[in-house]
Amino acid sequence: MNQQIQQSVLDGPLFPMIIGGKTVATGSSFAVTNPANGEIVGYAPEAEPSDLDAAVAAAAEAFKIWSATDDSVRAAACLAIADRIEANAEELARLITLEQGKPLAGIGSMFEVQGAVGWSRYTSTLSLAPEVLASGEGGHVEKVRKPLGVVGSITPWNWPMLIAVWHILPAIRSGCTVVSKPSPFTPLSTLRLVELMNEVLPPGVVNIVTGSDSAGNLGAAMSAHDGIRKIVFTGSTATGQRIMRSAADTLKRLTLELGGNDAGIVLNDVDPKAIVEGLFWGAFINAGQTCAALKRLYVHADVYDAVCDALTAFVANVRVGNGLDDGTMLGPISNKMQFDKVVALVESAKTKGRVLIGGTPGEGLFFPPTLIADLENGDPLVDQEQFGPVLPIIKYTDIEEAIAAANANPAGLGGSVWSADPQKARAVAARLECGTAWINQHGMIRPDAPFGGTKMSGLGVEFAQDGLHEYTDLQIVIS
Ligand code: NAD
Repeated sequence: MNQQIQQSVLDGPLFPMIIGGKTVATGSSFAVTNPANGEIVGYAPEAEPSDLDAAVAAAAEAFKIWSATDDSVRAAACLAIADRIEANAEELARLITLEQGKPLAGIGSMFEVQGAVGWSRYTSTLSLAPEVLASGEGGHVEKVRKPLGVVGSITPWNWPMLIAVWHILPAIRSGCTVVSKPSPFTPLSTLRLVELMNEVLPPGVVNIVTGSDSAGNLGAAMSAHDGIRKIVFTGSTATGQRIMRSAADTLKRLTLELGGNDAGIVLNDVDPKAIVEGLFWGAFINAGQTCAALKRLYVHADVYDAVCDALTAFVANVRVGNGLDDGTMLGPISNKMQFDKVVALVESAKTKGRVLIGGTPGEGLFFPPTLIADLENGDPLVDQEQFGPVLPIIKYTDIEEAIAAANANPAGLGGSVWSADPQKARAVAARLECGTAWINQHGMIRPDAPFGGTKMSGLGVEFAQDGLHEYTDLQIVIS
């Protein structure tokens, strides 16, 4: 962490912002705490409005050159970033575990860092070559993709570094420049990531500002800023709606990846033991704090008890603890705000449902993986996104009833169908109102497949060629 500034008044390192290629530390800062034990991990600068203006100005200046830079140079920059992340993987993974809570091993922070490497490399292979729509006697018509300009990236706290990479890499690959703003709960790994990116990028191509949401909301200032052409946002639906409202004045382009409440439907022909591990990780990855996690499970009456038993037996062997400890499979809930939300939803579910396992908060921000059966639509734990280590299980007898219940929710991010018969599963999946439908798995996303939400889960897509196009204006050239 060569660029960290140790301040005598602080009891942890201050991670500086990077603006125009230079490190910037403001007069005030805020503490970032470890959800596993409450200890201070480090400090992030509390940006002033003038810092945001400086970051936007630096990005606008860099855009003049970066947008005209040869495409092969921008592709090479994505590879160079991947190399920098890979070379610092252990440090970055440790930082993610410290500030976010997920385990280092398994589907945890090293997995997140490796995902960032893979996504960066894949982004270098995409292409924005002009497309010829017509040529010949009638004239020549070409479709050209031009980079938008300065992109504001606003990220959440659940997969802080990977989501920052999902925003920043396609932006710079297409010739845009970026001002990144991480969540105040988990800004440190993104600050360090952007520092590493600046070792291989020209100054101003990627800038980062940080601030707590209480002290003058930086994200709100970004979505209203007239120097920013596009906001790419991952976070809650309510914040996405606020961004959309304030972006209207400058008609910003938007990509919004918002909340999900993914349903899984288990058909009556499954072998419960064969699907239990997939169901568990689909729901409990990152202690359930994942946008496209399985958040409501509809199970056919014929296999209901067997699926409940198999899941309960699996959960009984799941080790919860400090993410730095060997053998930890799930860490704590990432922050008090989310912890309180999960506790309230579980308490309300207990009044009606049957707790199969878990259900009682542990110490600090720890909450055990919890299964609550015999719930139905209309119960808060089913209707609302829990974003925590709790899965409601709902019994159904008629597949039409299950499909209707799965679709009777404003969210439409992902969904899954579990069956021994892939054709049957596919037919049900086709009727789910969601951006991604999985068969006998849940939550697997890939850099070569566009990902986005329908209904209240978002606007636009990320990843692959379609995702890259969202950072461009289309220009038709007719000759
Ligand atoms: P959040 O909306 O509270 O915060 C996300 C980001 O927005 C943070 O950086 C925050 O500082 C910033 N922000 C806060 N107020 C703002 C405003 N008025 N204008 C602009 N920015 C503002 O969300 P969160 O609690 O960090 O994340 C959890 C939510 O994110 C869950 O609902 C989850 O489903 C969703 N999520 C969605 C995806 C997806 O791809 N669809 C991925 C991860 C998380």
